[in-house]
Amino acid sequence: MDDCIFCGIFAGRLPASMVYRDERCAAFMDIRPVTPGHLLVVPVRHAAYLAELDAEDGAQLFRVAQRLAAALRQSGVRCEGVNLFLADGEAAGQEVYHVHLHVLPRFRGDGFGLRFPPGYGHRPPRPELDEIAGRIKGVLSA
Ligand code: AMP
Ligand code: ZN
Repeated sequence: MDDCIFCGIFAGRLPASMVYRDERCAAFMDIRPVTPGHLLVVPVRHAAYLAELDAEDGAQLFRVAQRLAAALRQSGVRCEGVNLFLADGEAAGQEVYHVHLHVLPRFRGDGFGLRFPPGYGHRPPRPELDEIAGRIKGVLSA
């Protein structure tokens, strides 16, 4: 993947501030941190989207993110909470098309947040939830 930034890092063509590495994944500092300590956990094997990600690579991303969250809390970096965030697809905010899991240190007043759409908070009727659940279950069991 010659034009992929994260493959370039794994190939040693691009610099990174590496925090962790194993045979399946690595973690390094985000170059434009939302808060200080912002990390990315990235599979070594290129996968542009979640659908292409090896399931065991995905499991390892989460294991490592869990360890990093604990490490951040003990590191002296300001970290009162942690968000894990993954953007899959352009509509979800993905900018780098090599799967990555953000590990974001959070603290009161850090200025970061999710914006909810108008109407958020309204609770749809149970039949509507059940109908959508049925669609998803149908795909899972197909
Ligand atoms: P996303 O919107 O989830 O695709 O986020 C891509 C993330 O990759 C952004 O937070 C960028 O700051 C980060 N990023 C882009 N290039 C690099 C790089 N060379 N090293 C570290 N992080 C990077
Ligand atoms: Zn790549």
